[in-house]
Amino acid sequence: MSAIHLQGLVKRFGQFTALKTMDLAIADGEFMALLGPSGCGKSTTMNMIAGMERPSEGRILFGNQDVTGLPMGRRGVGFVFQNYAIFTHMTVRQNLSYGLRMMGRPASEVASRTGTMAEMLGLTALLDRPAAGLSVNILQRLAIGRSAVMEPAIFLLDEPLSNVDAAFRAVMRTELKSLQRQFRQTMVYVTHDQLEAMTMADRIAVMDHGVLQQVGTPLEVYNDPVNTFVARFIGAPGMNLLPGRLLQHAGGLCVDLGPLGISAPLPGPLAAAAASAPAEVIYGFRPEEVQLDPAAPLGLPLTVTERIGARSILHLGEGETSVRAVFQSGEPLPEAGLVRFQPAAAAVRLFDAATGRAIR
Ligand code: ATP
Repeated sequence: MSAIHLQGLVKRFGQFTALKTMDLAIADGEFMALLGPSGCGKSTTMNMIAGMERPSEGRILFGNQDVTGLPMGRRGVGFVFQNYAIFTHMTVRQNLSYGLRMMGRPASEVASRTGTMAEMLGLTALLDRPAAGLSVNILQRLAIGRSAVMEPAIFLLDEPLSNVDAAFRAVMRTELKSLQRQFRQTMVYVTHDQLEAMTMADRIAVMDHGVLQQVGTPLEVYNDPVNTFVARFIGAPGMNLLPGRLLQHAGGLCVDLGPLGISAPLPGPLAAAAASAPAEVIYGFRPEEVQLDPAAPLGLPLTVTERIGARSILHLGEGETSVRAVFQSGEPLPEAGLVRFQPAAAAVRLFDAATGRAIR
């Protein structure tokens, strides 16, 4: 009943197409993140699921029911925005219980559901405080609670954590995930923050320029990006992408990484896939998959080392031939000069240079 199907969804604003033919199936009880850079069409998609925008083309189904023409109030969805919508003249309790009271639920049920939600979200001690004096963090938590207490079968959240501080965001990621586990809602979560998407979502729909690029589990989009956009967008830092040319070598198929002056051999399965690919390619590997090796033919000068807590990121080379390599901070790392390295063989990915599509 609470599965969501977007079928051939298009949204135009005048001449501008904000969303181009989106097809997406979200399973009942699934946590789906819509992830992409600013302006990619995430909120437009969400607003159509919520019923705040009418699609220019296509259909939206909840279960088997076509809800495309149904107004927001009749879709039975919960919706939380980036900017909390809280009644500041009410107490926390009055805010949390507002929807249940409007529905005319019995007082005992209102009290118990409000109490349970307050407990889950750590708001119990604040129940009788006026909302007006509360911090942004608490107000956003309250906004989530006020919607969640209605136990909507479909719960839509549009960048709900973008205004709260970093430490609180980390706490809320865990709380939102457990909220969803508890109520087994179908959750659609808009974010431009891949950490949120990667940590909470069952699957991620990666979008760019109004086009759905890839749908997959966090590991699938990380390990097997369908194109260079997803490869670069997912991961922090994103995948290293070096221009190259396929070459037939005595030992098999290689990628000539021209500006780097070396040829990188391709592991067997990838070589087979590349056999019929166009010659101009992009050679990709994750920064986490770089191995230091003084005997490796591939080498680039160290430009900067960034130390971020338990991780160190080496920046090697510059411009089109720059590579980032991530290590645990305890590992012995070079301080300067030419750094020789190689990507783990299983981590190498190839993309068609003309289209950006993965070769596999
Ligand atoms: P952000 O995180 O910045 O909100 P987004 O991925 O959610 O980005 P949308 O808000 O869906 O992006 O917007 C997609 C594109 O559609 C943008 O270029 C935006 O300027 C445009 N757009 C959105 N709403 C309207 C509107 N009502 N009229 C005209 N253009 C719009």
